[in-house]
Amino acid sequence: MKSLKIVLIVVCLAGAAVFFWMNTRNVDSIPDNPDTATNWMCATCKSVFLLSASEVADEERKLGQSAPLTCRACAAVQAYRAMQCVKCETFYIFSEEAPGGAARCPVCFPTPPNRNSPVETEPEEDELELLRL
Ligand SMILES: [Zn+2]
Ligand SMILES: [Zn+2]
Repeated sequence: MKSLKIVLIVVCLAGAAVFFWMNTRNVDSIPDNPDTATNWMCATCKSVFLLSASEVADEERKLGQSAPLTCRACAAVQAYRAMQCVKCETFYIFSEEAPGGAARCPVCFPTPPNRNSPVETEPEEDELELLRL
């Protein structure tokens, strides 16, 4: 029974040590180099800018949310994660919750202008039939 207690203590100490080590590592080594930078796009002014991982962390801490963040160009809190299309290199907001956001490149995969209207109906053809009769 005594040895079990010792094992438990050792496990706890090891856990605490690992936790401490990870914590201190996170604090002084939030990567702040171009490799960790992400693209952000403002839904208001459409400007695209890069934020490093630590800049994103700072913004999130300041605003208390993960997105939208503050736009570097117009200061509106309307900046969302942006993607660059591999085909046409257009930047677009990669979030369907964002205003104007899309899950795919809006240039290569344009959304139909009338999303709500039914796609099946083809009134033109009916009219042609009537004209022929
Ligand atoms: Zn902006
Ligand atoms: Zn594209």
